[in-house]
Amino acid sequence: MTDTRCVLITGGASGIGLAIARAALAEGWSVALLDRDEGNLKAARDGLDAPDRVETLACSVTDEAGVAAAVALCEDRLGPLSGLVNSAGIGLDAQALDTEVDDFRRVLEVNLIGTFIAARTVAARMVDRGRGAIVNIASVSGMVGNVGRTAYGASKGGIVTMTKVMAVELAPFGVRSNAVAPGPVETPLVSDMHTEAMRRSWAETIPQARYGTPEEIAQAALFLLDDARSGYVTGQVLAVDGGFTTSGILRG
Ligand code: NAD
Repeated sequence: MTDTRCVLITGGASGIGLAIARAALAEGWSVALLDRDEGNLKAARDGLDAPDRVETLACSVTDEAGVAAAVALCEDRLGPLSGLVNSAGIGLDAQALDTEVDDFRRVLEVNLIGTFIAARTVAARMVDRGRGAIVNIASVSGMVGNVGRTAYGASKGGIVTMTKVMAVELAPFGVRSNAVAPGPVETPLVSDMHTEAMRRSWAETIPQARYGTPEEIAQAALFLLDDARSGYVTGQVLAVDGGFTTSGILRG
């Protein structure tokens, strides 16, 4: 056990979660990666600098008892958690009339309920200690009506609201709750889901006319995790989206 600040990152074996792990390690944090994908977890750990400051926890965020056990193990090994990042998530590209109820449920189960399970589990420990920061990875699709994002957008909109409610409830106990809402970011999730037509459509709609990088999202998450930089910021949703959610249709 050490005095190093410690963060648990769900979905930490890939994409945005892994980039956050890399950035946190570079700033001296200890990092626990929780992911359902054991193979990617091992590869992720092997690819990180400072593996002595990395723990891996194979678990689904939908498994309440599994998450509780993983959080307990993580704190035994690394010390008290001062940060939690909820990055585990799955995508679904289907318009409302083509979305089966079971698929809608599956997306909410992982993205929204999984985020709630990890947030609730870790927040209880943070409240006991009177400090901590939670950062949920939402999405611009949880803020505006993107076609084909019925279930996904609903799950992310739920995260946005949950982030705000928890911020208000936990503020008296020294715990902050914020979200990052990325626009499209080049990760395995996007390479599976984004067609060429979708890519053109995004590029035309984003003022900065490009996808974001996992590293750009990681820096926003680190800002919100770090009390020294964002100690007076809670209940906020930081869109990291090249101007997408702020833009109108007249751009010259
Ligand atoms: P990714 O697929 O690279 O990483 C997601 C990780 O979550 C994977 O390692 C996966 O195994 C894990 N995961 C999925 N279901 C899980 C479960 N039930 N339990 C534990 N782990 C689970 O995707 P990414 O692009 O890095 O996405 C990370 C987060 O960012 C997601 O919440 C996603 O919705 C959000 N996001 C991504 C983008 C984007 O364009 N890439 C945009 C906005 C928001």
